[in-house]
Amino acid sequence: MAAHRILILGGTGDARTLAARLANGGHDVILSLAGRTAEPVAQGVPTISGGFGGAEGLARFVTEQGISLMVDATHPYAARMSRNAAEASARSGVPLVALRRPGWEQADGDRWTLVADPAAAADALGDRPRRVLLTLGRNDIAAFEAAPQHDYLIRSVDRVDPPLDLPRARYLLARGPFAGNDERALLEREHIDVVVSKNSGGAATYGKIAAARALGLPVIMIERPVLPDVPSAATVEALLPMIEHQLILAEKRGV
Ligand code: NAP
Repeated sequence: MAAHRILILGGTGDARTLAARLANGGHDVILSLAGRTAEPVAQGVPTISGGFGGAEGLARFVTEQGISLMVDATHPYAARMSRNAAEASARSGVPLVALRRPGWEQADGDRWTLVADPAAAADALGDRPRRVLLTLGRNDIAAFEAAPQHDYLIRSVDRVDPPLDLPRARYLLARGPFAGNDERALLEREHIDVVVSKNSGGAATYGKIAAARALGLPVIMIERPVLPDVPSAATVEALLPMIEHQLILAEKRGV
């Protein structure tokens, strides 16, 4: 098969893995990042950053760049980008497939409270002061300024600057993956009594969920957004043959 230009919408470890696999397979891969992380991990393929200017901008980009296929490999909570990708595909005719990592399921011993968004998570912490581990992105943590009675340990890849307007917040800079044992040690050392998390799925950030279960701690779990219905697979391995199939179809259409 001829080499094709593939645009991967990334920002996840899976996107990086997928990009490397497709590049090794001889494809011309462009990996796109939002540009939120100051020093992203080296991606190993040509990378662009900073967004396209909505669905219209993305449709223009894929047309101008002669892209044969788009892959949405963004984080499951990057709902705007996923919607834009679906709309750009419809506008441009460039096919789209998605890597949709399944969410974690509650296991015996888990004590999850499901909430719709970060504001609801802050509310669900209740009035009584608690010691909270927050592992959410920069855009999401501001909601916790509405609950200043708690003591927060906030873990993020980039420094939270400016810091939140909270009397008791400490910041921990770290980039996953996080091992279960280390997560358990962190929860114990910091006397955490509740974890707030997104349901990211996958192994890289599951350690804190398993550790909370082992320690009998509650987790306030922010539910996943609804994403557009596009052909998708749950793993890189399962997505690769779908991508090859789409490329054969694109070749037949002369894209
Ligand atoms: P979002 O709300 O869905 O997207 C907001 C805007 O950011 C999009 O409209 C787009 O700007 C730009 N954008 C997002 N992802 C992009 C990409 N891969 N390439 C180019 N532009 C992108 O996204 P978000 O929740 O802020 O997440 C930003 C990035 O961080 C995503 O790439 C995601 O995979 C990664 N991430 C997110 C989370 C999370 O919890 N949300 C967690 C881990 C990693 P334009 O409209 O200008 O194109």
